[in-house]
Amino acid sequence: MRALLMALVAGSFVVGGPGFAPVAAADTYPSRPITIIVPFAAGGPSDAMARVLGERMRMSLGQPLVIENVTGAGGSIGVGRAVQSPPDGYTISFGHLGTHVANGAVYQLKYDLVADLEPVVLLPSNPMIVVSKTAVPATSLKELIEWLKSRPSPATAGTAGAGSGSHIAGVYFESVSGIKLQYVPYRGTAPALNDLIAGQIDVIIDQTSNSITQVRAGTIRAYAITDDKRLASASEIPTAEEAGLKGFNMTLWSGLWVPRGTPKEIVTRLNAAAVEALSDPAVKKQLEGLGLEMTPQDQLTPEALGARQKAEIAKWWPIIKAANIKVE
Ligand code: ASP
Repeated sequence: MRALLMALVAGSFVVGGPGFAPVAAADTYPSRPITIIVPFAAGGPSDAMARVLGERMRMSLGQPLVIENVTGAGGSIGVGRAVQSPPDGYTISFGHLGTHVANGAVYQLKYDLVADLEPVVLLPSNPMIVVSKTAVPATSLKELIEWLKSRPSPATAGTAGAGSGSHIAGVYFESVSGIKLQYVPYRGTAPALNDLIAGQIDVIIDQTSNSITQVRAGTIRAYAITDDKRLASASEIPTAEEAGLKGFNMTLWSGLWVPRGTPKEIVTRLNAAAVEALSDPAVKKQLEGLGLEMTPQDQLTPEALGARQKAEIAKWWPIIKAANIKVE
């Protein structure tokens, strides 16, 4: 099926009749709306970034970018949907360290995260943040760890599913602090955050961009971020190391991919539109306000995303396999 699709796209010419030279599809691209598949719930951190970017990329591409939230199984269903799509530039896979790295070690995927996808652009990143419901009787990371350890049964931690960023961060937190958590999977951290605010779950090791607004509003409590420096936009939150926990460093970066076999000119076009969006001061302001760190200029190529993904697979797969993460 895939071979057939590739053959169709490779040969998809607009033929104007005898005497007209065939025009490759890439020359008229894009001539209709483009779908970005976000593999997590609407209103979450992936969805928010995809929407900000998509809106700005429309200005460069002249066609709307429509967000489709295809959720479930730690994002692996949505990525699978993108992999199965025709490699014609009309379907983009939005993802991150969880979906495009960790999931390969957590699930028996029917696709290969590297061989079946073509990198387009490395998107902004952010540290994870340890947050709890306000009813938790702790005011520092040390007190939180003591509280987590002293409980008769493990506290509940919301995640966006096995292999998602919030799940990997939770497993990492367990291993560096010696605590035990009971994971509650959601279709994204947007619904998990709603339950945290309502006091239905105890903690989330969340993407900063998801939680920060609620931390500022005082509806949840923040303890530390997983970076070696504080956030410029929330400098009152200590780093994990400052809060007494060494070795808890994690940066969650995102990216855009297209199905393997997408014409090079289309990948270049999409990359240019994304780079233009990321260079727009209004987009920058919006993303930085959420604690996101913009991608360095020299890292904005498709090759940089490909290299980052491969390096992270080499780093994380052994850690995840050693942690023996079970799909619940
Ligand atoms: N990025 C996911 C979301 O948008 C959350 C996660 O991976 O933890 O919900």
